[in-house]
Amino acid sequence: MEKREHLFKILVIGDIGCGKTSIIKSYVHNFFSPNYRATIGVDFALKVLNWDETTLIRLQLWDISGEERFGKMNRVYYKEAVGCMIIFDVTQPETFENVWNWKQDLDSKVQLPNGQPVPCVLLANKCDLPKVGTVNNKSYMDKYCVEKGFHSWFETSAKENINVDNVAKSLVEKILEND
Ligand code: GDP
Ligand code: MG
Repeated sequence: MEKREHLFKILVIGDIGCGKTSIIKSYVHNFFSPNYRATIGVDFALKVLNWDETTLIRLQLWDISGEERFGKMNRVYYKEAVGCMIIFDVTQPETFENVWNWKQDLDSKVQLPNGQPVPCVLLANKCDLPKVGTVNNKSYMDKYCVEKGFHSWFETSAKENINVDNVAKSLVEKILEND
């Protein structure tokens, strides 16, 4: 039987150093390095998912960076995205403070063809390290996500490969709902 194929453009955004490149490498290549060079411009990675018997999904992950300043991102990068991961670093509370800025920047620059916001999952990354601050306690984060329009959130570690598959699964499920 012929498989249905989808190509989904997924943005990976968040402050510099929070682990965007590492999450993508961990997810696509099962590989972690303590010293990635700062991404310059945009990198792409492709992950192919045999979603079910009849569905093949290609995730095109856009690793945007160099100048990771919300508000400065070019609209062109965001164009035609159908999903987004916003990442912060649990050891750097200021990266969490910027999450809302990233979300607003995203929503102001791209929408789905039906006018709805692009489904977005929040990643509390580096959960293998001791947390700083109290932001990512569960009930706080659950409430935050509802208020701010995130589909879901996960504690992740690119280093230990924790929850990275679950992030993608949650996002794809939401994208397919809209499809
Ligand atoms: P980016 O600027 O957002 O792309 O961040 P990078 O992926 O380049 O990561 C920045 C630094 O954080 C690198 O030294 C990574 O090795 C480190 N890093 C990224 N993710 C994790 C993680 O889950 N755990 C730990 N311990 N370090 C991480
Ligand atoms: Mg990077």
